Amino acid sequence: MAIDFRVEPEFQELLDWTREFVKNKIKPIDLVWPHDVYKDMTPEQAAIINPLKDEVRAKKLWACHLGPELGGQGYGQLKLALMNEILGTSRWAPRVFGTQAPDTGNAEIIAHFGTDWQKEAYLEPLLEGGIVSCYSMTEPQGGADPGVFTTNAHREGDEWVINGRKIWSSNARWATFFIVMVVTDPEAPVTSRFSMFLLPRDTPGITIEHNFGIAGEGPEDVSEGLVSYKNVRVNDDAMLGGVGEAFKVAQTRLGGGRVHHAMRTIGNCQEFLDMMAERALSRSTKGTLLAEKESVQTMLADSYIDLQQLRLFVLYTAWQIDEYQDYYRVRKDIAAIKVQCARVYERIATRALHLHGAIGSSTALPFAGALLGAQIMALVDGPTEVHLATVAKQLLRDYKPTTSVWPTYLIPNITADAELALLGREITERVPE
Ligand SMILES: Cc1cc2nc3c(=O)[nH]c(=O)nc-3n(C[C@H](O)[C@H](O)[C@H](O)COP(=O)(O)OP(=O)(O)OC[C@H]3O[C@@H](n4cnc5c(N)ncnc54)[C@H](O)[C@@H]3O)c2cc1C
Repeated sequence: MAIDFRVEPEFQELLDWTREFVKNKIKPIDLVWPHDVYKDMTPEQAAIINPLKDEVRAKKLWACHLGPELGGQGYGQLKLALMNEILGTSRWAPRVFGTQAPDTGNAEIIAHFGTDWQKEAYLEPLLEGGIVSCYSMTEPQGGADPGVFTTNAHREGDEWVINGRKIWSSNARWATFFIVMVVTDPEAPVTSRFSMFLLPRDTPGITIEHNFGIAGEGPEDVSEGLVSYKNVRVNDDAMLGGVGEAFKVAQTRLGGGRVHHAMRTIGNCQEFLDMMAERALSRSTKGTLLAEKESVQTMLADSYIDLQQLRLFVLYTAWQIDEYQDYYRVRKDIAAIKVQCARVYERIATRALHLHGAIGSSTALPFAGALLGAQIMALVDGPTEVHLATVAKQLLRDYKPTTSVWPTYLIPNITADAELALLGREITERVPE
């Protein structure tokens, strides 16, 4: 009986330290610079934030998603889940702890598939949080279906020549390099049609044509690049992984990234629940506290139940990744929590907004922004519908069809089977074929 929900005391101490550190030292930074997380730090920001990173390193909590050979701590996904629940409550905390998406995923790709020069030039600075990176896969004509991607690379002598256009390339405008997925064999099945390249930002032929803003972003902060690649020439050593291996490479990134999103969402949801509880205990109407109204109790209880279910599912998924060391093997549950974290976030944000009344809908509180965030969460790294299809397909692999016209679990027939087995005779009339 190995199921055990206790956390080792030494790691619990680190979690407690992290919680206090985020609350006291990083959340003030969120309030002063809410929009600068992906930008180069100003000298004023660096003077405040770099010493905090040093504190994190001294506690051995830096880049917890990576193994020690890559500069991380090798705690594994389960411990990372507990950490990310705390880091998810703050915009800046992931950057201060070296676990910021999408850089975490990009660092994992370089760590696993990068050449020596790629690691030297980009991995260390990325892990240090000194540079920002961009993952450029989605195309204007379709995101959820890689089968329609056309950005391609063809050989000319020793070089690859890349042409095409990508969209929703987050943080392209601040990125030092781009990881781009391109077609290298148009005739191949989708899973082996693409290769991945790492392109330094100043590679000739890369142009950011436009930056789309997400609702709520000011003009200075618009972050989603429409990027064109025109006759971009690179050598073999710009490739990450082998020819045709982009899906394998992407899996390393997206599998981990989806789980990390879910972990961080738990922290957001817990904060909203805390806010709901404070409000319910503080505000009265028609002579009683909100907390005493049955409908408010239902909102609180449903939020708690939603959150606890999600949390257990995320922890179980993280445990499986640690156990099997294989994102692909755990893809059913990774897809499921990707779907569920957006749903739970939306449900709890909706209830929190409603419970707070008008002020809940204002920019003085985070709930309205979170509702949009939940919608975005349901799109990034693949829309909900696509992940639901993955869950269903994986689920169905464990079943087989019956050859009878009746289900195998038809009660009269299984009762007759049971009678035959236990009594040696059938009493119940079987439903004939
Ligand atoms: C804020 C943000 C940041 C992003 N960052 C990046 C990034 O850094 N790099 C990058 O490459 N991409 C990024 N993306 C793109 C993201 O991965 C795509 O938006 C996503 O894959 C969906 O593609 P699409 O937007 O083209 O929607 P579409 O593919 O057009 O899908 C639209 C809708 O159609 C329905 N649908 C689609 N496919 C199916 C299906 N198979 N079955 C049933 N219904 C379906 C769903 O309702 C879906 O929401 C980002 C997106 C957002 C919003």
